[in-house]
Amino acid sequence: MKQFLIAGNWKMNTDINSTSDLLESIWNLKKNYSNSVQVLVCPPFTNLSQANKTLQDKPIHLGAQNCYWEPKGAFTGEISLDMIKSCGCNYVIIGHSERRSLFGETNQMINNKLHAILSSGLIPIVCIGETLEERREGRTFVVLEEQIVNSLEGIDEKIQDIVVAYEPVWAIGTGVAATEEQVDEAHNKLREMLNNKFGSTANKTLILYGGSVTSENADSIFKLTNVNGALIGGASLKAETFVTIINTAEKYV
Ligand code: PEP
Repeated sequence: MKQFLIAGNWKMNTDINSTSDLLESIWNLKKNYSNSVQVLVCPPFTNLSQANKTLQDKPIHLGAQNCYWEPKGAFTGEISLDMIKSCGCNYVIIGHSERRSLFGETNQMINNKLHAILSSGLIPIVCIGETLEERREGRTFVVLEEQIVNSLEGIDEKIQDIVVAYEPVWAIGTGVAATEEQVDEAHNKLREMLNNKFGSTANKTLILYGGSVTSENADSIFKLTNVNGALIGGASLKAETFVTIINTAEKYV
């Protein structure tokens, strides 16, 4: 049976009160969740504790949008995995293109984070994706391979414990999602790259698509063989659209 993860990346949106309001709205619209479609929300760090209180034991997972790899110490402004765990999170997004382009994160830094997350027992969501320029130059798969090889270095069989999110940079927050053919091609290629590098264990790795997913285009994406869900920015901030996207995934399990 196909497994899905529907993940909301709230980015730098919401405060304590609106975090609870949004989670309550999602819950009011949907109370039954399939075991094959895991649902995750990733509010800003400052709202995680409140989100955890609001969610209590509801079947909606909580995740962080970033982390630091050191356990503690003189790293002003950084957040450790123990801190994230103590807020009730079980997922962490790393390598988002906004972190890469605006905050200078490299594949090496992402790899350091990845190892720390795996040691902590949390589930990493590793984002990769090409820029528009790289796609126009016909370098999409070279870039994706380089990101896979370098950011996933040294994880071996733990490949099955990670989630990969394919997010073409040009599709994030632009309203221009990749076409069905582009998503299909990229996800098939990514599955092949993961299998070549890690063997058949990589068949268990969930591969999410991210980039302007909406309640309108979700169906055409989720029906594709190697798509296991979505990482959703803008559309995860509205309870109705987020719930419609979750319901769409449930059609394919
Ligand atoms: C994202 O934040 O990862 C994302 C894909 O955003 P959006 O859905 O708004 O394009």
